[in-house]
Amino acid sequence: MRQQNLLMPTLREVPSDAEAVSHRLMLRAGLIRPLAAGVYTYLPLGRRALRKAEAIVREEMDRIGAQEVLLPAMQPAELWRESGRYGVYGPELVRLRDRHDREFALGPTHEEVVTALVRDEISSYRKLPLTVYQIQTKFRDERRPRYGLLRGREFLMKDAYSFDTDWEGLDATYRVMYEAYHRIFTRCGLIYRAVEADAGAIGGEGETHEFMALAEIGEDTVVACSGCDYAANLEKAEAAVSQQAQAGADEGAAPPLERWHTPDIRTIAQLTELLGPEASRLMKTLLYVADGKPVAVMVRGADEVNEVKVQRYLGAEQLELADAETVQTVTGAPVGFAGPVGLSVPLLVDREAAALSEGIAGANERDYHYRHVRPGRDFALAHTGDFREVRLGDRCVRCGEPLTLYRGIEVGHVFKLGTKYSTALGARVAGVSGTEQDVIMGCYGIGVSRLLSAVLEQHHDEQGIVWPLSLAPFYAHILPVSITDNAQRELAEELYNRLQSLGVEALLDDREERPGVKFKDADLIGLPVRLVVGKRAGERVVEYKERQAPEAESLAVEEAIRRVLELVKPSASFVGVK
Ligand code: ATP
Ligand code: MG
Repeated sequence: MRQQNLLMPTLREVPSDAEAVSHRLMLRAGLIRPLAAGVYTYLPLGRRALRKAEAIVREEMDRIGAQEVLLPAMQPAELWRESGRYGVYGPELVRLRDRHDREFALGPTHEEVVTALVRDEISSYRKLPLTVYQIQTKFRDERRPRYGLLRGREFLMKDAYSFDTDWEGLDATYRVMYEAYHRIFTRCGLIYRAVEADAGAIGGEGETHEFMALAEIGEDTVVACSGCDYAANLEKAEAAVSQQAQAGADEGAAPPLERWHTPDIRTIAQLTELLGPEASRLMKTLLYVADGKPVAVMVRGADEVNEVKVQRYLGAEQLELADAETVQTVTGAPVGFAGPVGLSVPLLVDREAAALSEGIAGANERDYHYRHVRPGRDFALAHTGDFREVRLGDRCVRCGEPLTLYRGIEVGHVFKLGTKYSTALGARVAGVSGTEQDVIMGCYGIGVSRLLSAVLEQHHDEQGIVWPLSLAPFYAHILPVSITDNAQRELAEELYNRLQSLGVEALLDDREERPGVKFKDADLIGLPVRLVVGKRAGERVVEYKERQAPEAESLAVEEAIRRVLELVKPSASFVGVK
């Protein structure tokens, strides 16, 4: 491709609201342009990189025998009612009506459509197992679209769905898919972890893993062990139970409960400051509303409630913090004074808080706390469990080594769905014995457009993008210092033609721009190798520089071509998008 005609509008400045590095780079390097919040145009460079990612995904899906299909984005609301999701999906689902006033949704995911397909087309176990996949635009009216392609409202997803007759079959399919995901993300040059995730959120029954690209901008927190391979999403992560909690509350006598006047002290931070070392015995009580009913959750002062764990324990569809009015009604006091003593709603007590021999807690009365609150004596321990978030300093539940916390971007998700959708939509097959059974499903997503952003979060420097070979929109950037110089132009053209004919996608900067501008743009768009044709063109010598190399090397043309081929070979043979 010749740069003179390439639609690659690079920018020196980007809007200040582009917070994520990847977002800024994509705008600056002319990969994408916004049309509306979370809706983007892919310009040629962006499109080419996206196609490379698609090609890797496609190759790995095909390799494991998944069959490519293309399911409709426009889906009758009726189907979503059958699965029961039309009501619960909420405002994220893009809804519309056709000219006959029939309701439709634009697919945010395709369990309904694919399950209906299998229901209608497959009736015998002999046709199973089956895995289908597609790479398609998804629509989700996200509450907070942001960070460019990281959280879009229209985005590209690879979604795969598997159908088996038994759980052993699903286990095997899941494993093969899990391994394919490892190959995909490795090939994309990503630094990532596969982590255990919470199954409740999608409402299935089985095992689930998320693939997390490690990056500061990530909206998820990954908990990983420094000693073994335990890794989990913070939503799901557990820590080893402390010795104190293991031993159970000590039997020694505690002083009696004491009312303590604490005017204007409403936050844990204020209490912590006031108490000094004693703050380790703070008990924090939060009120929630779970499916319309108030519940209280108590953790130690320095802990945070893990709402996913609470929701799972309660089996609740919805869980939210109670508003001030509800807090007042339930505790009889304004926000800031809730405590476990005398509460009339169910109280979930984190096992570490339950193990405190005594502590300080709100008194459910304005301007008062209690001292010497003793779990089991002053309030019942009817619901004790793991309700807190893992934090730094906690130890691994498997091996006891320290846990580390990282930020992560969820780039992929594999999930054992079981029969949730097949039961709801009646996808049944005749089994070996002839009796009918619900098919057992798995679903597997990759955010292909998000993946590009995640890669750029990890692969860049001060000057711009540093493409991993596998996703680079072009491999070689040929840069004649002066296109009006005959010798330079001719050698650049020769290089360009020869590389192209060898299958190396090349970009020729044939613009009449100042060298400084060309070099800046080249670093910004970050192709893996740059060949500068300058003063020594007459001697057939060019400057060869890989994007990350500190210095350029002067090489004879033939040697430069050989080096380029050597560099791109592994990628070209794998992907080869033309
Ligand atoms: P998140 O927690 O980030 O909202 P999710 O759990 O809703 O993700 P899934 O429904 O599992 O995501 O979708 C499969 C994959 O699609 C995700 O792993 C992610 O990579 C990608 N994805 C989800 N939502 C978006 C979005 N709004 N923009 C871009 N990619 C997305
Ligand atoms: Mg989501």
